[in-house]
Amino acid sequence: MEIPLSGYDAPPYRPPNEAGSALIRVTRGCPWNRCTFCSMYKRGRFRAKPLGEVKADVLTAREIYGAAASIFLGDSDSLVHKDFPEIVAFIRETFPEARRVTTYARAGTVVRRSPDFLLKVRQAGLDRLHFGLESGDPVVLERLCKGAAPGHMMEAARKAKAAGFEISFYVLCGAGGRDRWREHALNSARVLNAASPDFIRLRTLTVQFGTELDDSLRTGEFELTPPRERLEEIRLFVENLDLEGCFLASDHLTNYLWEGDTVIYRGIAGELPAEKERMLRTVEKAIARASFIFSPPDKVEIFLLKK
Ligand code: SF4
Repeated sequence: MEIPLSGYDAPPYRPPNEAGSALIRVTRGCPWNRCTFCSMYKRGRFRAKPLGEVKADVLTAREIYGAAASIFLGDSDSLVHKDFPEIVAFIRETFPEARRVTTYARAGTVVRRSPDFLLKVRQAGLDRLHFGLESGDPVVLERLCKGAAPGHMMEAARKAKAAGFEISFYVLCGAGGRDRWREHALNSARVLNAASPDFIRLRTLTVQFGTELDDSLRTGEFELTPPRERLEEIRLFVENLDLEGCFLASDHLTNYLWEGDTVIYRGIAGELPAEKERMLRTVEKAIARASFIFSPPDKVEIFLLKK
């Protein structure tokens, strides 16, 4: 679908599973904008769009997408918008056929929002919140400057579920670096076991030019997790998940491991707990292959983006 470049303000980022969704921008940028690994919204200042502007975009989106089956609302933290319940209700009126309306959410915002506000948003028709957990390890979260501790993540999950939302948590494989991948794996599993999300989505850390993490990498303050240890991290993480009714996905290109121009690992996906053993066998096979391919094991160039 071709989206016009003027007269319609589409969010620049969305989860991969929202590729076919109508995209509507409620806010611009990120009100936090300090995570050391993130370059997504660095070029702009955060602003909550005025209600009239959002409604005009919703009507334009209807013309562009027609009867969309799903709708994604950007940018990084829609729940900070004071008019969000009214916006969601207007979207539902304008897109009565939509089966799903979702958005990104920051844990700190959900923790600060009252149960009544969250319930209003849910009752207006928002179905799912996508949270960036990144890590359940307090040291890693601090290093990433995520602005949320493990306790915030668990509290946000509890409040979101109490309001009736489905919740999806993103885990950033490799975020612990060479020195902390075990703690990152174990504590991420611990937080997710408490949060009990409907979805877990794995992303692998890629260091982007110009970020604080890039600086830390250059000074040697941060060392990337080598490929074999990254797979061991995933194994340790999955082994320690104790969840019912959760789907784990690796729906991102960053999870791939390559041997020359051949992908030897595409990540894992499946229902928990039913498909846990199958997913672990996939990781085991990749570990065996990575041991052979990535010798010596500290060759990590594949994690760097081309600059
Ligand atoms: S909260 Fe999300 S969008 Fe904002 S800086 Fe952190 S990772 Fe980027």
